[in-house]
Amino acid sequence: MADHRIPVAVLGATGAVGQTFIRCLADHPWFRVAEVAASERSAGKRYAEAARWIEGDVPGDVAAMTVQPCDPSSVRSPIVFCGLDAAAAQVAEPAFAHAGRFVFSNAKTFRMDPDVPLMIPEVNAPHLGLMERQRRERGWQGAIVTNANCSSTTAAVAMAPLHERFGIRTVFAATMQAVSGAGYPGVPSLDILGNVIPHIGEEEPKIEREIQKMLGVYADGSIAHARFVVSAHANRVPVENGHTVCLSLGFEDSPTPEQATRALREWRGDPSVRGLPFAPDPPIRVRDEADRPQPRRDAMEGRGMTTVVGRIRGDAVLHIRLVAMSHNTIRGAAGGSILNAELLVARGVIPRDAS
Ligand code: NAP
Repeated sequence: MADHRIPVAVLGATGAVGQTFIRCLADHPWFRVAEVAASERSAGKRYAEAARWIEGDVPGDVAAMTVQPCDPSSVRSPIVFCGLDAAAAQVAEPAFAHAGRFVFSNAKTFRMDPDVPLMIPEVNAPHLGLMERQRRERGWQGAIVTNANCSSTTAAVAMAPLHERFGIRTVFAATMQAVSGAGYPGVPSLDILGNVIPHIGEEEPKIEREIQKMLGVYADGSIAHARFVVSAHANRVPVENGHTVCLSLGFEDSPTPEQATRALREWRGDPSVRGLPFAPDPPIRVRDEADRPQPRRDAMEGRGMTTVVGRIRGDAVLHIRLVAMSHNTIRGAAGGSILNAELLVARGVIPRDAS
């Protein structure tokens, strides 16, 4: 039987995020992995040979695919999921967008550009309006749509319902980030086993800026960034998957812990996202146990797309404290990009018969 799903390419397919794309897309109802690409080190090899595959077996026919160079003349799919590091993304992503492809990026390179959407669709679907400006001003037939840093995503989802209802003014965020967030092979085992590393290069300013953009308001082709101030502490911990963020929040209109809990529990996010194949329902799960969320137990909630929140309580310095956790390579990277692409297909921006 003919496969009518839209062909997609994965750039950076051999890395931690690239492998997560391939796993998440294995049974996707709308998209099929048609092409894989990576660096010159991998190009020309069979995928199974080029990738040091981390979990289980390489799905379906991807194992036998030949890895392509990250170049739009070799990779033809209309949708390009990108797990490249920042330097490679700097060159490849605009080249693909210029060639008419829709690029779903996980790199930091273009996230803060004023004409580039930085998306968590349940939180800021209207920000996709930036694409029109981007395509017009850059003369592109395609576009770049980005995802945030994985810790920024965890925090922003948990903050969104509270910011909507009570107006956040001040944020203190301390992260405990999994080793898979550093890519593969990532952090040397002797540095991280039995240890905590209280520094992740460039992470703190990224978290501080990206949350303000994501929780900002779109109007007339621009984002007015949220005006709250953020202080972030980033730590690497010996956890495999799942970034945890401890948040203390100050508000314009302070909620009680019960009101904050209700706002988080009732939140369903942007209605246009509901029902999409990768949309978690609900986007946030609030847990009442005193010792949750925990990455080992909760990272795969909602197939890795749900943000799990717990320990919502008062705070003597600001107003409310809580703990948020989500899967860094799924919600914070590949799964988030897939959801962005689904939304563009659902809106008809990417045609279902694109090939
Ligand atoms: P990674 O495991 O180091 O993978 C990097 C990928 O990029 C590999 O496929 C590599 O191919 C390819 N690559 C490197 N240099 C290249 C070049 N010059 N040209 C073409 N391809 C090149 O990194 P990762 O953790 O998957 O992260 C990928 C991106 O996602 C980064 O920008 C990262 O900041 C971002 N991100 C990661 C996470 C996470 O949780 N890991 C979350 C959010 C965002 P070879 O195997 O051929 O070298």
